[in-house]
Amino acid sequence: MKIVGNDKQKQINDIISVVKLSILLLIGIILCERFIKNNKPVIWAPETYYTVICLLIPLMVSILIYLIWFFSTENKIKGKYGEIISKIEIAVFILVFSIIIFICGVNESQYKFLYLFIIIITTIQFGMKQGLIVSCISSFIILALDIIMLPDLDVNIYFQDDLILAGIFILTAWPLGFYVKIEGEHIKKLEDMINIDGLTELYNHRYFCDSLAEKIKSGKRDNKPVSMIFIDIDYFKHYNDTHGHLKGDYVLRKIGEIIKDNTRKEDVPARYGGEEFAIILPNTDEEQALNIAEELRKKIEYIYFEGEENQPNGKVTASMGVSVYPYKAKDDLELIKSADDALYKAKFFNKNRVEAYTSILDDIKNNTDEKDVELVTSIKTLISIINAKDRYTYGHVERVVFYSKLLADKLNLSKRNKQILIYGAYMHDIGKIDINKEILLKKTKLTDEELDILKQHPVNGMEIIKSVNSLKDVIPLIISHHERYDGMGYPNKLKGEEIPYLARILTVVDSFDAITSNRPYKTRKTYEEGIHELERCSGTQFDPDIVRDFIEVIRNNIELSILDKYEYR
Ligand code: GH3
Ligand code: MG
Ligand code: MG
Repeated sequence: MKIVGNDKQKQINDIISVVKLSILLLIGIILCERFIKNNKPVIWAPETYYTVICLLIPLMVSILIYLIWFFSTENKIKGKYGEIISKIEIAVFILVFSIIIFICGVNESQYKFLYLFIIIITTIQFGMKQGLIVSCISSFIILALDIIMLPDLDVNIYFQDDLILAGIFILTAWPLGFYVKIEGEHIKKLEDMINIDGLTELYNHRYFCDSLAEKIKSGKRDNKPVSMIFIDIDYFKHYNDTHGHLKGDYVLRKIGEIIKDNTRKEDVPARYGGEEFAIILPNTDEEQALNIAEELRKKIEYIYFEGEENQPNGKVTASMGVSVYPYKAKDDLELIKSADDALYKAKFFNKNRVEAYTSILDDIKNNTDEKDVELVTSIKTLISIINAKDRYTYGHVERVVFYSKLLADKLNLSKRNKQILIYGAYMHDIGKIDINKEILLKKTKLTDEELDILKQHPVNGMEIIKSVNSLKDVIPLIISHHERYDGMGYPNKLKGEEIPYLARILTVVDSFDAITSNRPYKTRKTYEEGIHELERCSGTQFDPDIVRDFIEVIRNNIELSILDKYEYR
């Protein structure tokens, strides 16, 4: 973050504001001295010339004091307008000093040194170039006054003296400006060391987080979307294990380069963690972000890395997740989380792909009666609480939803039934909200008592959603997703076709993911083993017709050999 530079600039601005106010005070003193003589104000002197000036100057000084206080200390106006205002401020100061010099003797005035203040201030604030410009203008004014006032002299002594003063003006601006420049470069170097990741030369995690908060703030202010791309290299552990960490570092550096070369100036590309990258894209909608991500993905896929043919998919590739504020996430943390979730989805679908974040519950919300929207929002909160309790539940829910969509298409379910199945898949574990973390995450076998508690979750889930009228068709899925085809399930020991059809589908899908996932108490079975397990329990635990179709779906859609070879979670 440009914290160091900004902090410095702020402190300098504060000091300069005080200096400016002090100068104005000095001007006030000079004017008083000029216009109060022998304890009598001379402003009522007959010369209208004095009267006008005496009215004008205090007025201008008051306005200046107010403006400087407002803009400098409050630091409200930044960017283009801030710069213009600062320039106007400098011009006004030069004008005020010139008037003072004019009043106090013109070429004979002893206040010509006043310009030094504004030269120093301008150089410190804006650098050598501006400082030199101001010193040249000041020199020109004093020298011009000398010539205008005494045009016919052969030897103009004031001009000679003022030449030296002009030299002092320039010699003040030049080295001071140089110092400011060197210091600025030094700070930039330090900032780079703090903000840039040494290996990939992208921004680091800290800079990324600070920038994100800032970009979201500006997005909110300007009503513009802010997108995020999350990138994770596929099977990178495998690459390191096969070729060593030095080669792995080269891949990271190269991918960092690709990311840098393919992002725009306003984007913030960062190394988020070990082999994870993230890009903030201000003023970019989801479609644009997806296009940029797809370009990046292709570039990474096509570039050759030594030994990549030994990677499980024959190449070094990366998976990416995309999300966008404010449509998919309401703040910076949600944006990171949703992009990360989308990345997770991309990994899950065979990797080397780009996925946008989709929240099924937002979809449900859009299809819900007005009066139920609030309840659905509460359900969403409940689901996020369960996810926070048990990370497995989240990935699990996502995968069950994914399998359900595929299976619904295979079974030619009607649009409405497919929707109910997906909603059911999303909410089937919602009753686990009542179960404490110790039981959910227990590594050893559950006691009978704990098992009874766990078995209450279908009923608890039904209780939670039954008040939402638009979700009434989902209730049978939630209550019956642990029934068994042979009637040995729970809670109602329903048998065969007594179990609602969609609930039977959900049972197969849910169980398959449970079998092939790592749980606290067991390591996962491979996909092939998962399929065998489904076949083994077909007709007892599961509806055999559904098992048959589901296995076909799995075999056709997921490259099991790759997923089974390497654990993906
Ligand atoms: P996946 O496709 O699911 O992402 O599989 P993966 O093997 O890439 O798994 P994961 O994302 O968990 O991999 C993290 C690996 O990244 C572990 C470590 O070997 C590697 N890694 C992390 N930081 C560095 C680094 O600075 N240099 C090198 N060479 N490797 C790193
Ligand atoms: Mg990773
Ligand atoms: Mg990885």
